[in-house]
Amino acid sequence: MAPIQKECDYLVIGGGSGGLASARRASGMYGAKAIAIENKRLGGTCVNVGCVPKKITWSAASIAETIKEAKAYGFSVEWNYEKNLKNDKVEYLHGTASFVDTHTVKVLLDDNTEVSIKAKKILVAVGGHPAPAPNIPGGKLGINSDGFFDIETQPKKVAIVGAGYIAVEFAGMFHALGTETHLFIRHDTFLRTFDPMVSEKVTAKYERQGVHLHKSSSQSKVEDLGDGRLRVHYKDSNGEGSVEVDTLLWAIGRSPELEKLNLGVTNVAQNAQGHIKTDDYQNTNVENIFALGDVCDRGYELTPVAIAAGRRLADRLFGGQADAHLDYNLIPSVVFSHPTVGSIGLTEPQARKQYGDENIKVYNSSFTAMYYSMMEAEEKGPTSYKVICAGKEEKVVGMHILGIASDEILQGFGVAIKMGATKADFDRCVAIHPTSAEEIVTMK
Ligand code: FAD
Ligand code: NDP
Repeated sequence: MAPIQKECDYLVIGGGSGGLASARRASGMYGAKAIAIENKRLGGTCVNVGCVPKKITWSAASIAETIKEAKAYGFSVEWNYEKNLKNDKVEYLHGTASFVDTHTVKVLLDDNTEVSIKAKKILVAVGGHPAPAPNIPGGKLGINSDGFFDIETQPKKVAIVGAGYIAVEFAGMFHALGTETHLFIRHDTFLRTFDPMVSEKVTAKYERQGVHLHKSSSQSKVEDLGDGRLRVHYKDSNGEGSVEVDTLLWAIGRSPELEKLNLGVTNVAQNAQGHIKTDDYQNTNVENIFALGDVCDRGYELTPVAIAAGRRLADRLFGGQADAHLDYNLIPSVVFSHPTVGSIGLTEPQARKQYGDENIKVYNSSFTAMYYSMMEAEEKGPTSYKVICAGKEEKVVGMHILGIASDEILQGFGVAIKMGATKADFDRCVAIHPTSAEEIVTMK
């Protein structure tokens, strides 16, 4: 059967955070004829296998009551996304998109019908997927972050491999919920892309809390012991060993989801990791093709980044705002570890390198939050704040905080830092007492 033919101004491939935001703005606000294509579940990684179910699990791990409230957060989000697209007059097709040429995309719908769409402009917002398990015997017996959300009964014992956001967040949640947690990292600390204060203190806290941390480790094979049990063979700083677990979870990064897109026919340029190369305006090297979110090479795999880039791109392409683009400087982010971490701007080593030691002043504060005052020493969580300032005016160029409520504290400071706040501006703000955050405006 001949494919159904369609035409549009704006074809968005990927119905995740970035794609939905961009399609809705282009059509709903600017009246562009937009079509969005999604082949799994609308909402993408964040709402289906990312931020949202993760945050609910994190809350559950932090406060047992939250489990009861989880339903109120609403998992039936797909309906809302479809309704939102409808409200904004975006045509939605459920199917897999692949390029035919730079202006034409073929969509294979669920019932095998083929649709051929000619579009003036095409946005690639296909996101990513967990990096595959390493090529060791039995490596594929492990799950990844997608599989985490399918676990039906809480494992008694789990092995997690990785040292980034996902490994650290999942290890914290499993441990807090009472699972014996083995975390395998390749070096001495995890979260190594963060400020050393964060990396060292959170690693030490996890060890103190009783997470079994395997440093300088590698895995050689995974054995299937039957009944869902696995034996992971490893080497770590203590030598060779093995551990029997219910679940092995690989959290070793994510890769762009380009396998089905037939991107080759477009000559869109990619970097060595496969991410699509984009400039500050989300332009690719092909005039009418744009990319944003996890699939592009901007180095921030965060939901609000994809959304903000998507909306600004629609503002630029269809809203007459010629300079609209996302400024990738000073983007705040949080790790939902136990305790939480918040980070914005340069780390101390980056600031020293960029400005020179003599032009940097670093303010540190470590203390015990009042919340912990009733607890025994070993139960007390660390609270540590670091503010990094540059130049005579002491402009704040980096802030790194860990401790209770760091996830909530960072957003407001992020606004101030983005506006160019100096240390003196921080000091001029009267402290709120008694809180942890007051330390940030009283640092000496
Ligand atoms: P996605 O949301 O992944 O959407 C892409 C969509 O494209 C997908 O739905 C996919 O099915 C679809 N697609 C792919 N190929 C095709 C095709 N050929 N045809 C049709 N459709 C296609 N970020 C935060 O800011 N805070 C957090 O707390 C946080 N937690 C996370 C926890 C986990 C476990 C994970 C994995 C990620 C987390 N993230 C978090 C990151 C966040 O989820 C991503 O940065 C964000 O979802 C990226 O949005 P996107 O639009 O680029 O891609
Ligand atoms: P990350 O890129 O954050 O971290 C992966 C880390 O795992 C690497 O940095 C590396 O650290 C380690 N690693 C890589 N290969 C191996 C290996 N073979 N064995 C052991 N360790 C290995 O990836 P994630 O998968 O954790 O998360 C992907 C992205 O999703 C994040 O970067 C983040 O942008 C986003 N995300 C955001 C969250 C949030 O905002 N709260 C939460 C979850 C995800 P090292 O070099 O130290 O070994």
